[in-house]
Amino acid sequence: MDDPCLHNLNLIHHRINNACVAVGRNPNTIRLLMATKTVPAQRIKIALQAGEFLIGENKVQELKEKFNELKGIPHESHFIGHLQSNKIKDLLKCKVSCIQSIDRFEIAEKLHARLTFEKKEMNILIQVNSSDEESKFGVSPQDTVELIKKVSLLSTLHIKGLMTIGLFSAEENKVRPCFRKMKDLQQDIIKHKINGVEMDVLSMGMSHDLEIAIEEGATLIRVGTAIFGERIYPDSYYWKE
Ligand SMILES: *Cc1c(COP(=O)(O)O)cnc(C)c1O
Repeated sequence: MDDPCLHNLNLIHHRINNACVAVGRNPNTIRLLMATKTVPAQRIKIALQAGEFLIGENKVQELKEKFNELKGIPHESHFIGHLQSNKIKDLLKCKVSCIQSIDRFEIAEKLHARLTFEKKEMNILIQVNSSDEESKFGVSPQDTVELIKKVSLLSTLHIKGLMTIGLFSAEENKVRPCFRKMKDLQQDIIKHKINGVEMDVLSMGMSHDLEIAIEEGATLIRVGTAIFGERIYPDSYYWKE
């Protein structure tokens, strides 16, 4: 029997298309990142071979294991989890093209030091806490411009935009303001014209809220459950220090 992820991917692309049509956006301007935490490399392979290209992992250890298994299969990989400084060295071995979760200067500085040593560079997104929930990572919207100004001075890091995990809520009228806040923040940062800073990427929207995110300006959505099914581990396992 075919892996259900193939059917689910069709559904996701329909959802993306419908959301784009509703607000007059071109579906080609939305990138789909498959959030692959807990998903075995074998299943990720199936999705990649069906035409997907971009995956994102939350844990360096898990990324490392799958990195070897996915060698030879064309794809691009981002890091979307909470980054700890003692994992930077291993992370850089896994050839990610973007780290979406930079949310504090200390980690940016350490990443910069290691990249300098290895003579490498890295695209990053600044992760913003758009929901005011204490349990979540991300710089507060008020502190974002200041953080970006500081990080922009680190020559190995290239800021490409913002990332957020919205509010976990079924209520649209609570979720939408988080995404709108991100769009406003993006526009505000553009006005600051900070040297070397690009703001093209707005990474927001997951399985349950991707339509709202697209309506509010997302350019990259990160989808796990709606493609691969429910995970056994609770998300708190992936979102802790
Ligand atoms: C797990 C995860 C996702 C995907 O969440 P789903 O609800 O399974 O679609 C997106 N972004 C991040 C940072 C995640 O950890």
